[in-house]
Amino acid sequence: MLFKKKIQNCVIIGSGPAGYSAAVYTARANMNPVLFTGLQPGGQLTTTSDVDNYLGFPKGINGNDLMNNCDKQARRFHTKIINESVSRVVLSNKEGGIHYIFFGEKKCIKSRGVIIATGSTPKFLGKNKEKKFIGLGVSFCATCDGFFHKEKDVAVIGGGDSALEAANYLSKICKRVYLIVRKDHFKASKILQYHISKKNNINVLFCTNITDIVGNDFLEGIKIINSKNKTNKTILISGLFITIGHIPNTEIFKNELDLDEKGYIIVQKGKTTTNKPGVFAAGDVQDPNYRQAITSAGTGCMAALDLEKYLSLCV
Ligand code: NDP
Repeated sequence: MLFKKKIQNCVIIGSGPAGYSAAVYTARANMNPVLFTGLQPGGQLTTTSDVDNYLGFPKGINGNDLMNNCDKQARRFHTKIINESVSRVVLSNKEGGIHYIFFGEKKCIKSRGVIIATGSTPKFLGKNKEKKFIGLGVSFCATCDGFFHKEKDVAVIGGGDSALEAANYLSKICKRVYLIVRKDHFKASKILQYHISKKNNINVLFCTNITDIVGNDFLEGIKIINSKNKTNKTILISGLFITIGHIPNTEIFKNELDLDEKGYIIVQKGKTTTNKPGVFAAGDVQDPNYRQAITSAGTGCMAALDLEKYLSLCV
């Protein structure tokens, strides 16, 4: 087996912009990276249609196309890409120590350097039938599922950038979009608020919460309550798009690395260094604030340079 004896220099866990950026930089520095894609190769961007704010694409680029390009770029420099999820890690405390990365059925790869770029996962509302109706009206991805609600009424919940982007996208396909915001104001950026204000078919409901999800075999509607005047209402919709934030994908690292109270990996200020020597974190898994494709790619590059320096000092 390829990995049985060999000790790698660089294993990258995750295949979003952070992971691929780390792969390109480490590969070009002759570190022969091995990259685990996880269950969703390309990460969250593969569920985004138009990426307009990633530099270098004056007309924007489809998220899937962007990630396919990243994959091709990493392969061009001979990154070894494994389409599997890492199930467990054992990370050394010693300078120059060997880290163990487990995957598949009892397979293990050893490496002196690890770059964690596992990203984050969308949050659930925690309502009855929410999980049951995933794919039956409930969705976390407007660009993936919006098409199924052509000329129909849908709702988006959340007041951040993701929610407003989803509402904006859906307004081009659907008859009417209810945008449900629990506060009396948006959290989203002013530019997105401006776009929303120009749409006639987006109905913003501030101070509103979902109390129940309605339907037998599939989503048929939602019950909502206005928290100011306490009025209840049922809205009939074919689609509910839940865009209320994310949880960092750090489950397999929680006994191995220092995490903050929300579960994000703690890195040294201005670096990607974790509390274990040779282990670096990049992208959304260590960034609750910026969470942009371009900042993820930037920290992927930082992790590669941090690892290169680490290896040159300890090997
Ligand atoms: P955010 O955490 O920014 O926003 C989450 C929103 O959901 C908030 O309005 C929050 O309300 C609301 N919310 C949270 N929990 C619930 C709940 N249980 N019920 C109802 N509403 C709830 O997440 P986003 O995914 O929108 O954005 C994450 C990051 O990604 C941000 O930094 C954002 O700027 C960035 N991003 C940037 C994009 C771009 O630049 N094009 C696109 C998408 C995301 P409250 O305000 O009350 O907390």
